[in-house]
Amino acid sequence: MPDNERPSPVRGLSRRDFLKYSSFLAALIGAGPLGATKVAEAIEAATKFPIVVWSDFQECLGCTIALLQATAPTPAQLILQQISLAYNEAAMAPAGFDAEKSFNQAFDQGAYWVIEGSIPEKIPGSIAIGGKYAGDIAKEFYPKAKGVIAIGSCACFGNVQAHVPNPTGAMGVGAWLRGPGGIPNAQVVNLPRCPGHGDDLVATLIYIIVMGKLPDLDHAGRPLFLYGQTIHDTCERRAHFEAGEFVEQFGDEGSQKRWCFYKVGCKGPATYAPCAINRWNGRTSWCIHAGPCTGCSEDNFWNDFSPLREPLPNIPVPAIQGVSAQNIGLGLAAVTGVGLAAHLVGQTVSGRLFKGGPNGNGESHPQAEKKDGDQK
Ligand code: SF4
Ligand code: SF4
Repeated sequence: MPDNERPSPVRGLSRRDFLKYSSFLAALIGAGPLGATKVAEAIEAATKFPIVVWSDFQECLGCTIALLQATAPTPAQLILQQISLAYNEAAMAPAGFDAEKSFNQAFDQGAYWVIEGSIPEKIPGSIAIGGKYAGDIAKEFYPKAKGVIAIGSCACFGNVQAHVPNPTGAMGVGAWLRGPGGIPNAQVVNLPRCPGHGDDLVATLIYIIVMGKLPDLDHAGRPLFLYGQTIHDTCERRAHFEAGEFVEQFGDEGSQKRWCFYKVGCKGPATYAPCAINRWNGRTSWCIHAGPCTGCSEDNFWNDFSPLREPLPNIPVPAIQGVSAQNIGLGLAAVTGVGLAAHLVGQTVSGRLFKGGPNGNGESHPQAEKKDGDQK
């Protein structure tokens, strides 16, 4: 039977949509032209799928909700039907000792561990499950897990709970594990965003299945195939940045014309994430449709990027007809359309438009030593 006539392995998803989703995942993980078939085969080999345990530590449950409420084709369909989700406090039926039994058994069977939420280092007792503290659970079960994936900015870096003065001492799971009395070389795959995105999780799990190893990670423990470009690199408002067309204040003419948010605090030039690529709400919209990027996929962004509505320093912005974009403001409206068109053509021809890098100047991804490493 031709592949496209076989039934879909995912309930509620047509074979056509299943293959389409497989192609999307294959593109996301960089699996090459034959990748879609491999991805589809991997998903269909359901019995070989990893067992997944999902823990909730110090968080708001927003990542779980974002995952479960995603629209078709849904990561939730894949995770709940095709991946053996052995334990998730928010979504599972068992409770009490039965739940604890599922948790332990799953690790005995070789589970991957997805963690949502941070570790409260200063007040360990603020998060306790079954009489054990979150930090102790992390240290006890890390060695038993086949791989550990931190989903959402809380689990990766502490997020809002880590905002100064950080009363609970919130830490990302990887940093906690590698801390005093921990596991020095602990490797955690970080999938930050607030909330975490189901596609990032499914793509990472599929990557592990198809490639047989953990993905290459950047300096912050994020898979390079997902976090290799800045928001600025892939932003639909980038042409306006290059043209020096900026929103000066919310609700102004620039806002109505959907110009660039840089001057009202957009952190896109310094933020690595695939938000423009896999988006939200059935992949139809993302933050930049509504306002500036806050940089939520970056370590310590609440502290480092505050105040959130101030422009990032040291980002070179284009000069238009000798006038810096920092200074032109709405005076830009006076620049003739012919002049702007000529400028844009010049940018495109020179290759400057859509050039990569955190500063929009062609710098590459900030690779440092791998913090969260390769395969365990
Ligand atoms: S990353 Fe955001 S949505 Fe997810 S648990 Fe933390 S605060 Fe909630
Ligand atoms: S500064 Fe922000 S809004 Fe402007 S192009 Fe970059 S990412 Fe997009």
